[in-house]
Amino acid sequence: MYDSIPENPYLLLTPGPLSTSKGVRSALLRDWCTWDDDYNQEVVQKIRGKLTTLASRSSEAYTAVLLQGSGSYGVEACLGTALGQEGKVLILANGAYGMRMVRFMEYMNRPWTLLPFDETEQTDPVRVEELLKKDKRITHIAMVHCETTTGILNPVEEICRLAKKYQKTMIVDAMSSFGGIPMDLEDLGIDFLISSANKCIQGVPGFCFVIARRELLKQCQGNAHSYSLDLYDQWKDMDKTGKWRFTSPTHTVRAFLQALTELEEEGGVQARYERYAENQRLLREGMERLGFQELLPREIQSPIITSFLYPSEDFHFGAFYQKMKEKGFVLYPGKVSRRETFRIGNIGEIYPEDIENLLKSIKEVMA
Ligand SMILES: *Cc1c(COP(=O)(O)O)cnc(C)c1O
Repeated sequence: MYDSIPENPYLLLTPGPLSTSKGVRSALLRDWCTWDDDYNQEVVQKIRGKLTTLASRSSEAYTAVLLQGSGSYGVEACLGTALGQEGKVLILANGAYGMRMVRFMEYMNRPWTLLPFDETEQTDPVRVEELLKKDKRITHIAMVHCETTTGILNPVEEICRLAKKYQKTMIVDAMSSFGGIPMDLEDLGIDFLISSANKCIQGVPGFCFVIARRELLKQCQGNAHSYSLDLYDQWKDMDKTGKWRFTSPTHTVRAFLQALTELEEEGGVQARYERYAENQRLLREGMERLGFQELLPREIQSPIITSFLYPSEDFHFGAFYQKMKEKGFVLYPGKVSRRETFRIGNIGEIYPEDIENLLKSIKEVMA
């Protein structure tokens, strides 16, 4: 069916952009008019409906806003729009993406406070609760679900419970987990969730989306610090007409609809999660046999991306990377600040046999 779509020269074992299916790539091949119903109704509004359905069994409580730009644009837009002038956000960070939220707040020059954790340690609900008791000005909590810096999975359920108990608005960067790890926003108590086209839904890059509790977003008029990053303003038009305020990345958006359809065909988020988890298990066990050690203990390791320590003092990631690329696999450098690591992602159009082939190639390269 997709015979005319070329093969990729190598698999991307990276946390996005990632390897996509031929179906997704073939959906890029036609042009769209942003004013026509063929696009607004049949693509944009369909996507928004599918996203809220994925987000919760109580999907009517949520609304999805699509926004131009990579995932970070969505995080900044969400912080600015949800917080307003008066809000103060508690940021929980144990990696680069948590710290990026701090950068956004610095630029916005609005109140925030940071609770930092070590990169190899989960965000700790006990310390969060202590801080919530002390600092009564906090109105919002922001955290990263899967911190892609290391691949650590943070205890979103317990932090959400605290947000409910202390009546704080809960913002979750689920960039690298939404669509790949089952979650129900209403059950958890997430008010705003941010993700993007090129992670676990397996689309191509170009836009991000925020799934927001409708009643809360309604109250966000005039909050945003930036016109182009005003989620409320973007939502108002889009909700009525399916139109984006400014030119939308039409091809990427159409490919995303195809990616959502393929997620359904795979069996939904649970099935995708099981594939990723099987990929990760094979990877972990295989790498262990080859003498590599994981950075994180298994209990806090996500099925999304895995950090491995350099196996020896004289290991050169650059040379290793080149040889692996020649064999058809693109790996990812490490991002941890205090240890020498590299990362292997297993999200995207990646199957257990790909991991088996990867392990064979690593064995050859290491020999
Ligand atoms: C990918 C990612 C982002 C967004 O990064 P962009 O480079 O802007 O796409 C944010 N948070 C997490 C956890 C991510 O994995």
